[in-house]
Amino acid sequence: MPGPTKIVCVGRNYVAHARELGHDVPERPLLFLKPPSALCADGDAIVLPPESGRVDHEGEIAVVIGRRVRNASEEEALAAVAGYAPLNDVTARDLQKLDGQWTRAKGFDTFCPVGPVVPIARVHWRKLEIVCRVNGEVRQHGRATELMFGIPALVSYVSRIMTLEPGDLIATGTPEGVGPLAAGDVVEVELSGLSRVRNPVIAAATEAAPAAAAASHAPLT
Ligand code: MG
Repeated sequence: MPGPTKIVCVGRNYVAHARELGHDVPERPLLFLKPPSALCADGDAIVLPPESGRVDHEGEIAVVIGRRVRNASEEEALAAVAGYAPLNDVTARDLQKLDGQWTRAKGFDTFCPVGPVVPIARVHWRKLEIVCRVNGEVRQHGRATELMFGIPALVSYVSRIMTLEPGDLIATGTPEGVGPLAAGDVVEVELSGLSRVRNPVIAAATEAAPAAAAASHAPLT
């Protein structure tokens, strides 16, 4: 499976989560993108950027596209899915509110841990459940049957906007229970019994040491 050309995310797709952030339930899927440069694998560290004082976990069911699809019906959309994966839509909540646009808040390097793909033949999408744990404690739990816009409807909707390519990811939204991550935490998102992605959280390394900064201003010889 190639890497994604894009990571399409859905906001406020569980009623309880929309309400916990004080939002109305949207009439149609609310979409945004994360850059593929944000991807990180199981075991990689999530790096807290110094610009943010509040970085949240968002455990989500991700859809992995298996073949190119555009303008698909729900049935055609589901036929183009390769499988599912656990995904953490890590979010700098303070920057999301500050900017209005979500690109910065959602787009930092390491802000998109994704676990191993579960082939579509192994599980019906309606049976998927997502659990997010921080330091072993359950913080979020959601079922695919609780999604306002289900997986076939979401893939069809996105395919009418942009051509989906093999490896592309669609993160289907997070259930209630989002909360902050701190350096030293370990956060785990699991597609129950099928696949999981676990990541330590670390603070960003401090800027270049003063000696190195001074050296960069040394006259050329
Ligand atoms: Mg999300």
